[in-house]
Amino acid sequence: MAGIAAVGRADATISPVKRILVRHIGDFEISECEIPEPGPGEVLLKVGVTGVCRTDLKIIRVGHRDLVLPRVPGEEVVGVVHAVGPGVSGVPLGGRYYVYPGIWCGKCPACLKGAENLCREMKIMGFHRDGGFADYVLAPVASLTPIPEGLPDDRAIFTEPLSCCLNALELGRVSEGKSVGIWGGGPAGTLLNRAAQALGAETCVIEPDARRRALIDGYEVPPRSDFDVCIVAVGSPAAYAQALSHLAPRGVLVVFSGLPPEEVSVSLNQLHYLEQTLVGAYGCSYRHGLQALDSIASGRVRVDDMVSHRLPLTELGRALEIVQAREGMKILLIP
Ligand SMILES: [Zn+2]
Repeated sequence: MAGIAAVGRADATISPVKRILVRHIGDFEISECEIPEPGPGEVLLKVGVTGVCRTDLKIIRVGHRDLVLPRVPGEEVVGVVHAVGPGVSGVPLGGRYYVYPGIWCGKCPACLKGAENLCREMKIMGFHRDGGFADYVLAPVASLTPIPEGLPDDRAIFTEPLSCCLNALELGRVSEGKSVGIWGGGPAGTLLNRAAQALGAETCVIEPDARRRALIDGYEVPPRSDFDVCIVAVGSPAAYAQALSHLAPRGVLVVFSGLPPEEVSVSLNQLHYLEQTLVGAYGCSYRHGLQALDSIASGRVRVDDMVSHRLPLTELGRALEIVQAREGMKILLIP
């Protein structure tokens, strides 16, 4: 059913519905629940596809700074509007949307700078509120971006991970003609590589794993020592150390991947004498979703060859094993 509805449902609802629930760090359960009711300003989406990333593995196995339990994980979601809450207008039932995973205040210093991912009130889907590892997910209407007609869910689902890469490239000031070294040839490194190339940068991906290296035409060791921008997309102190030692004068090192508690030592004298910049990148702003969706829909950033596994929601355990073993590329869960 299509059309604009202030409050309504697409069809009769069959309860209960499935969800993945993390009650304690280290484990999850597949449980059933009543179908959620959208509150004021919210919509209920029937999940089309949800993406699994290394962060989900981290959330479930070891926890995360922003995680509040119990929680349904899943911050990469595309779905179809099934019901809308009070006060919602202009969102058609049956409309297909990408969900920006954050809810932001719009008033704090970070929000006013256009960095709502750093909002002091930030509530992230899959961390502070329930995410997309479920048949249905609630989302505020302000987080929705319509998916262009003809763009399949399997490609639109890359909007969130690509958005995070676009934020990193922006913060690293990547532009045409710059040399960019990317450490890590997994899904994030691959998207960073393709998005940097779309900006006209000359890229090299450094990846120690021979299987992954073959997929991305990467390098085992950096082929040059003077990158304008180094981006580390693997949570490895050794990768950060190598990136720092391959940064050109006035170069920028982008801290894209978080690390285990062990620290990396940075020589401030190196930054001083070579006038280098260190910049962190964490998540993405709403506007990056618009840019990412446009890049995918137009084909400027190719993603259709990156899906290695499509699994039912109930096989999350297997999906996490594949992520842990770095055996796949992008893994999608289908409710
Ligand atoms: Zn804010």
